[in-house]
Amino acid sequence: MVATRRVLFLASMAFVATVSYLWGHVDGDEGRALGLLNESFAAQSLPEVSPVLARERDTYYPNTEDLAKDEMRVIACGTGMPTTRAAQAAACFLVELGNGDKFIFDIGSGSAERLSSLQIPYDFLDKIFIGHLHGDHFGSLGELFIGGGLMGRHKPLQIWGPSGPTPELGTSYAVDKMVEMYTWDLAGRAGLVDFRGFKVNVHEFDYRAENAVIYEENGVTIRSFPAIHSIDGPVSFTLEWNDLKFVFGSDTFPNNWFLKYAQNADLAVHECFVAVPDIVTKLGFTPESALLVGTQIHTAPEAFGKVMSAVQPRMAVAYHFCKDWDTTAQVHDRIRKTYDGPLSLADDFMVWNVTKDNIRVRMAVVEEETWSPPAASPAEPPKDADKTQFSKDTGVPLDAMVYSDFIKEGKWTGVDEVLRGVYQEASEALGREFPYPEKEQ
Ligand SMILES: [Zn+2]
Ligand SMILES: [Zn+2]
Repeated sequence: MVATRRVLFLASMAFVATVSYLWGHVDGDEGRALGLLNESFAAQSLPEVSPVLARERDTYYPNTEDLAKDEMRVIACGTGMPTTRAAQAAACFLVELGNGDKFIFDIGSGSAERLSSLQIPYDFLDKIFIGHLHGDHFGSLGELFIGGGLMGRHKPLQIWGPSGPTPELGTSYAVDKMVEMYTWDLAGRAGLVDFRGFKVNVHEFDYRAENAVIYEENGVTIRSFPAIHSIDGPVSFTLEWNDLKFVFGSDTFPNNWFLKYAQNADLAVHECFVAVPDIVTKLGFTPESALLVGTQIHTAPEAFGKVMSAVQPRMAVAYHFCKDWDTTAQVHDRIRKTYDGPLSLADDFMVWNVTKDNIRVRMAVVEEETWSPPAASPAEPPKDADKTQFSKDTGVPLDAMVYSDFIKEGKWTGVDEVLRGVYQEASEALGREFPYPEKEQ
């Protein structure tokens, strides 16, 4: 009798726990399908649980799921701030489409590392759209440029970004200077590795253009419209494909263009800044500065809610705040003063699977100790011609791209024998001769 009562008690506790869990998730705004709760109530009994059989997990493990032909998958690879932190990289959203196309929107500080954790072949990560040129929105471009080139990207990076009020404030200028900054880096790589990935093509477009098509290929249309942030130049983007619409605001004060062009969004990503009190206490800003930055340059949570109430996307995504245990509630409560629709408070590695019928929101579990993902095209051996071309393009003399006699004389010959051993080992293992480089560079 006691045992029966205990079983009943435990069963009812399990039921309460399950309902609270579901309730918590729906009310917790992480975007679970709202029908879930009703379905759960409708279910006559809880699913059987096996002690030995695998069961469905509500987690995304990269490279374990096919993307359906009509499906869009969006992965947050940076949701944080310019104040770099291990917990969150800065702005970066990866959009993957069922037709095989992939697009990166913003590539903020630290985000190349997140991309690397997804283990996507780098030839597929060659299209980047930059909303504006703050470091927290393109600070990891150099890492993707160099690291991606070394990890199997055998084609140039394609970069789309806005012009500015003067040429020096445009994307071409910024990217050209970045590549210039890497002159020493590239001079040291040409002739040693497959050099095809160490190039960029910039497609700069007019930041004032309203809803202008800046990319159209393979059924995908990407448009740009002006954003209001810091000074002239910033833009927001829409991506439309297969009757699905992804909107990425980058950084902006609430504006008429967003309200107009983000309409009918399936997923609308818009910045939602740290609440003003936390800008003072956590970031150490003066109240004057916190008010200006937190409400005038950026979108305050209350204003984010107003924007989403006007746009009414299938899923509103708030990013650009530190998503900590003691700051998230503040952001959430302020948004909820002005918006009661579907909401995701983005964190790094949040994943949205978007189809016409459903938007599934999960977190990804990723590996950290990753190496190069499989290459989507075969690597070529290094070529001397790359050195010659690099010298021609940059004006760096060829004889400056090898060791001088002065540096050569500093080489310690004490390791000569063991290094010859490594060459011999490779020759024996692979059954072909790898001659030791007698003439040093
Ligand atoms: Zn910004
Ligand atoms: Zn920003």
